[in-house]
Amino acid sequence: MHSLFDDEPPVIRVALPVPLTRCFDYILPPNLQNTYLPLGARVRVPYRNRTLVGVVMARQVSPDIPLEKLKPLTEVIDDASLLDDHQLALAKWLARYCHGPVGEVISMMLPAPLRQGAAAHIQEETYWMATQSGRALEPEKMHRAPKQAELLRALQKHQQPVAATMLRSLGFTSTQMAALEDKGLAERYLQSRHLEGRDHETPSVLAEIPLQLNDDQKHVVSEVTGQLGQSEVFLLEGVTGSGKTEVYLQVIEAVLKQGRQVLVLVPEIGLAPQTVNRFKKRFSVPVMTLHSGLNDKERLDAWLLARDGRAGVLIGTRSAAVTPFKDLGLIVVDEEHDASYKQGDGIRYSARDLAIVRGKMLSCPVVLGSATPSLETLHNATEKRFQWLKLTQRVGSSVQLPDIYLHDIQNKKLTNGIDGGLLQVMRTHLEQGGQVLAFINRRGFAPALMCHDCGWVSDCPFCDARMTLHREPPRLHCHHCDSVSAIPHQCPKCFNSELKPVGSGTERMEETLEQAFKDWPVFRVDRDTVSKKGMMEKLLARVNTEEPCVLVGTQMLAKGHHFPGVSLVVVLDADGGFYSSDFRGLERMGQLLTQVAGRAGRERRKGKVVVQTHRPDDPLLKLLAQHDYSEFSRCLLEERKDTLLPPYSFMAIIRAEANQSDLVSGFLTDVVQAAAPVTSQIEGLEVTGPVPSPMERRFGRYHMQIWLICDRRGPLHQGISCLLELINRHPLQRKVRWSLDVDPQEL
Ligand code: ADP
Ligand code: ZN
Ligand code: ZN
Repeated sequence: MHSLFDDEPPVIRVALPVPLTRCFDYILPPNLQNTYLPLGARVRVPYRNRTLVGVVMARQVSPDIPLEKLKPLTEVIDDASLLDDHQLALAKWLARYCHGPVGEVISMMLPAPLRQGAAAHIQEETYWMATQSGRALEPEKMHRAPKQAELLRALQKHQQPVAATMLRSLGFTSTQMAALEDKGLAERYLQSRHLEGRDHETPSVLAEIPLQLNDDQKHVVSEVTGQLGQSEVFLLEGVTGSGKTEVYLQVIEAVLKQGRQVLVLVPEIGLAPQTVNRFKKRFSVPVMTLHSGLNDKERLDAWLLARDGRAGVLIGTRSAAVTPFKDLGLIVVDEEHDASYKQGDGIRYSARDLAIVRGKMLSCPVVLGSATPSLETLHNATEKRFQWLKLTQRVGSSVQLPDIYLHDIQNKKLTNGIDGGLLQVMRTHLEQGGQVLAFINRRGFAPALMCHDCGWVSDCPFCDARMTLHREPPRLHCHHCDSVSAIPHQCPKCFNSELKPVGSGTERMEETLEQAFKDWPVFRVDRDTVSKKGMMEKLLARVNTEEPCVLVGTQMLAKGHHFPGVSLVVVLDADGGFYSSDFRGLERMGQLLTQVAGRAGRERRKGKVVVQTHRPDDPLLKLLAQHDYSEFSRCLLEERKDTLLPPYSFMAIIRAEANQSDLVSGFLTDVVQAAAPVTSQIEGLEVTGPVPSPMERRFGRYHMQIWLICDRRGPLHQGISCLLELINRHPLQRKVRWSLDVDPQEL
């Protein structure tokens, strides 16, 4: 057998980060012909007039073009696989799924330095260990240096020296390490890497005693831990405050005790520092984070530590879903319904769905947790593809769910978006020492500026949208194309000098509430305020004092925070979902409303939620007010079933845009018509369009789309292939920008 291959030409096939779906063949130059070149290793190769970094996908291939036309590769970067078989299989799966180039998928899976050819090992060789006196000292005694105390505590957990890289990825600085050294509490070693071994094979993985679980939690933990090592997907449906996070922690403990690793996906880390701290406090193995707030070096370190098996737990956002692990034993996807798991451009994948695929490939369980599961996941649970576990009761001190009132504002005159009666309810709460959270899902001062004389409105010159009025700093700002202009002093059309803001955003609500409640502070939380570094931490610290105050903000307030003092939640604009052009509008509204309501009364006081609405008698809203998300989602599922929309069908969208509307529509119409003879023969496949996108004109470009819907995945992908082939041959292909989105999460 071997001799057969030995005669083959030394040709390798390489995946390159270029927008072509095929791989490229290169010949090994004579000096490299005896080099062992593993699959998944990086190489540098000439491509057109550049040099690119690619990954070896196959060896000893028979090239498609004559041998003498092949170019030699330039350099071998890795002497071992950078991506193992599983990672390569995952990349190929994803490339097939999104009909994209495997080279671009692989490039997306790598941290930037590796993409550029940087060495794939941790270079740091400094190690730290607590000294005798460092072990004897109670870190609590170091009042004046809390970070150093924390570092000392981390070192005390280990009997062996800990790599400085590891400590840095846990959030400690070199200055803090040196400070402990100066105090004689820690010492540095310069040792070779093998000494360190795998940190999480230490006999105890725990750094604190876990909580005593209630019966429901025990049941969930034993169900999941009973199936470690198997590719089972669990839906953990549990109301907010039902102890899901505690369940994750105890299941993770079981996995860590087997010496294996855990991936935890969360929607947005920056907004939930509390959760990360809970994980770090619980375990003595390294708990790392991976998210967009890290710099390239930090991301690379976390990636390498996970790959080398040195990170016990990796908590990360969407992109962490493709991180390699030495020995992955469990994936947890928290808030699985969250829209941020879907990548919106480039390689369009869902981190949740990718987690499920990885679980299958690696035979490891995947736990999807949510108080408000997505309809897709609920459908999978109903169909018994996922195992459905429930936590129906709140635990601990926050036993009762809040009462939810639908506050009728039909025919009522609102002051800047809030009803006078509601202001009174808020005041009473503040007087009783409670905190109030006011939720309005629009940032800025007002969604538009208007002239009451002639009807002029602040339309964006580039979009089918209004420009939002902002006060800080003063401007008109289009949230769709980001264009900004000065606030006009008079009407550009009739020169009337009185222009009025229409509607309310967070800034205006902040102002209104400040005027209404002079005795209490009002804090605003939205993208404009939270983008300032450390702002969220500061705010949380202030809110945790439980002094009465008002928090006003966007959905950022709804995500996973624990506000112990908030006993009243006010939802100012609940009706948006009813008017959404997206069939997921109502689902999102129900999830958001339930999540926001879950912020109320998580401790001691029973909470109360008041929802301003023009539809107090709407049956769906009423279900949400009764905390019946189950029945709410069941009703929505019925509707989807009747209309044959996902999850009762599979969907893909081809979007296209150009600077002229007839260019896009002509292009898409051509493609649909040319494909029709084939697509009409594919059983169950329905091709609709082209139709204008929900906002047709955006930043001066016209957007249209084609929908593909089918009851099975196979034929759907057949249809997609057919359309893409025609697109790639279409002469307008270069003038029109297009993209494919399989399982789109928005239209
Ligand atoms: P969820 O993730 O479902 O919102 P958490 O796990 O955060 O719920 O639990 C809510 C609160 O209850 C937390 O403060 C947590 O520490 C506490 N808690 C969870 N499980 C228990 C338990 N078995 N006994 C006592 N307190 C618990
Ligand atoms: Zn006017
Ligand atoms: Zn715009």
